Amino acid sequence: MRQPHPTPELNLLEDQLRRFLVRDIAPHYHQWERAGIMPRELWRQLGAQGFLGADAAQAFAGAEAGYAAAACIIQTISAAGFAGLASAVAAHNEVAIPYVMDLGTDSQRQRWLPGMISGDIVGAIAMTEPSAGSDLKAIRGRAEKIAGGWRLNGQKTFITNGIHADLIIVAMKTDPDAGAKGISLFLVGADTPGFSRGRKLDKLGQNIADTAELFFENVEVGEDALLGGEGQGFACLMNELPRERLSFAIAALGACDAVLQDTLAYVQERKAFGVSVAQFQNTRFRLAELHARVEVLRAFVRQCIDRQSRAELGTADVSIAKLVSSEVQGELVDVCLQMFGGYGYMKEYPISRAYVDARGQRIYGGTSEIMKEIIARELLGR
Ligand SMILES: Cc1cc2nc3c(=O)[nH]c(=O)nc-3n(C[C@H](O)[C@H](O)[C@H](O)COP(=O)(O)OP(=O)(O)OC[C@H]3O[C@@H](n4cnc5c(N)ncnc54)[C@H](O)[C@@H]3O)c2cc1C
Repeated sequence: MRQPHPTPELNLLEDQLRRFLVRDIAPHYHQWERAGIMPRELWRQLGAQGFLGADAAQAFAGAEAGYAAAACIIQTISAAGFAGLASAVAAHNEVAIPYVMDLGTDSQRQRWLPGMISGDIVGAIAMTEPSAGSDLKAIRGRAEKIAGGWRLNGQKTFITNGIHADLIIVAMKTDPDAGAKGISLFLVGADTPGFSRGRKLDKLGQNIADTAELFFENVEVGEDALLGGEGQGFACLMNELPRERLSFAIAALGACDAVLQDTLAYVQERKAFGVSVAQFQNTRFRLAELHARVEVLRAFVRQCIDRQSRAELGTADVSIAKLVSSEVQGELVDVCLQMFGGYGYMKEYPISRAYVDARGQRIYGGTSEIMKEIIARELLGR
């Protein structure tokens, strides 16, 4: 049990999720990774088991189980070695649902949340464009006012759940001359005329989390599609980003736990020069170092989970959590893969997947360089 503050309810949730992962996910994971996408039906299974929207309000079909429950779900999936599934679920649970919950009107919540929590509606967040990722203010997608609503035109890329998504929360420019204040968010159903999906992108790792290009061509939506107010998009994104980034830190920690456990078992069993690999000082010291770093990281991530539970998590703190967790995970998978020797390079060994899956962590949700920029700004001012 590795929850920050274990309670009988959290223990039960973790046990139930672990059993689900062993029974319904593990036997098929390799095949879904090869296919580059998980089955759509899996979302409904996740919903039926109560793993979607665990902390959303009961009034909208959520379990209202608190943020610790939401964090437990991401950590447990990741600690089982299913980083791609953790990313897909995080995009839905930790980004799309909280956006609707926190920024939506009651009628928007009523329209979208029950389906998102049952798994009938898969959510995605679409900010990144081919020419604007880190620099979100530079997006070009445009929403123009028309009678009774808005007309959207633009292109998004690298969108997690882009292929399965039924609801896309999209950032568009509503006033190209107003900088950050000219961005607004829209709730777009995937059945809206003019919306289309491009390729399912072929990624290095985390393949079961489908990633896609999305196109908006004269997509007309009503006034009720505007989320969080006109011109408020950038401010809304900034408010919601801490939760998204914390989910990446939690996932990284889970992945570190999975890889360390696997490596500890392997080095004790594998023999070289008549002794186990675990007996070489290099193995012992490197594993001790990594374990120590993971435990220090865990203490900080737990603090962040507590602060997020009280809605007090700041941008700089979560940037530290995302930066350090991604970097620790990156080093850990590399060192551990080395301890597996040639077997570590074989796809049938989970460490090889953990190695490629880890690489994205330093990029999505804000790159490590952007995390450093945010931390430096807190230290030094602009
Ligand atoms: C697997 C995956 C899933 C994703 N899912 C989503 C999603 O669901 N929704 C979504 O909207 N986006 C998503 N993204 C996009 C992701 O958030 C962006 O890729 C990321 O923010 C970086 O943007 P970019 O790719 O345009 O890189 P760029 O912004 O072009 O950056 C290129 C390089 O320049 C560096 N750089 C940029 N600015 C600075 C600076 N000021 N100082 C120092 N260095 C800098 C970057 O760190 C990077 O190394 C996903 C990406 C991946 C890989």
